[in-house]
Amino acid sequence: MTKPCIICVAITGSLPTKANNPAVPITVSEQVESTHEAFEAGATIVHAHVRNDDETPSSDPEKFAALKEGIERHCPGMIIQFSTGGRSGAGQTRGGMLPLRPDMASLSVGSNNFPTRVYENPPDLVDWLAREMLLHEIKPEIEAFDLSHILKAKDMADKGQLAGTPYIQFVMGVKNAMPVDRDVFDYYIHAVRRLFGEETPWCAAGIGANQLRLNEWAVAAGGHARTGLEDNVRLDRDRLAPSNAALVRRVVDICDSNNRPVARWQEARRILGLRLPEQTNKGQAA
Ligand SMILES: [Zn+2]
Repeated sequence: MTKPCIICVAITGSLPTKANNPAVPITVSEQVESTHEAFEAGATIVHAHVRNDDETPSSDPEKFAALKEGIERHCPGMIIQFSTGGRSGAGQTRGGMLPLRPDMASLSVGSNNFPTRVYENPPDLVDWLAREMLLHEIKPEIEAFDLSHILKAKDMADKGQLAGTPYIQFVMGVKNAMPVDRDVFDYYIHAVRRLFGEETPWCAAGIGANQLRLNEWAVAAGGHARTGLEDNVRLDRDRLAPSNAALVRRVVDICDSNNRPVARWQEARRILGLRLPEQTNKGQAA
């Protein structure tokens, strides 16, 4: 199998803190530095949340703007994906940064349980987020916490609520949501191919110790892989991950053993149907 593999690094998230792992980047400058290291290691998508200085989740568009500017300057070509996930704000504040026009944004299209609460994605909010993404020419990444979310994405695509073919990520191993289950994983792939076409790209993320397993499954099955400290702060039972880059290198090794080249940013943009980066840094963005 020679299809290039896109590696996404979820650098921060809204939950892990320095107490969990000192390598979790919190400030914008830490985030830019960690992203740069992960980019050099082979990641071509950065999935980002922003935090307040006290490490609590934020949805402040100014922080997102500073992060985008820093990543564009230090990682030219890298695909920037902002989270519109539910922990960083309620209602439309979750999409307040979309006018910044990142390449991509995460989009959850249905509700489900999380470890200690309901992850609420009411239909009117889902529709509004999708409209904002269309308006600002942002490709959504559909976060599939459940099979129904894949079928909902198909319904939205058919109704013209999503631009082009959605990029679907299977999320497995969140407590109280979909567990890591190989039959379900295989059925998810089957569903994506049936609904969107055989060659439609998809990716997968596992939470905690399951990150490695989902990386292995996705790479071997021809999908794309997400890693990063948002989903998992450990290398193994005994060792904390020293950086986001270390987790990216672990996926690069899996790609090597599956004879899959790691996609460069130009290939990743082509596979996902994304525009070339805006020429804000002439000379660097070549
Ligand atoms: Zn996230």
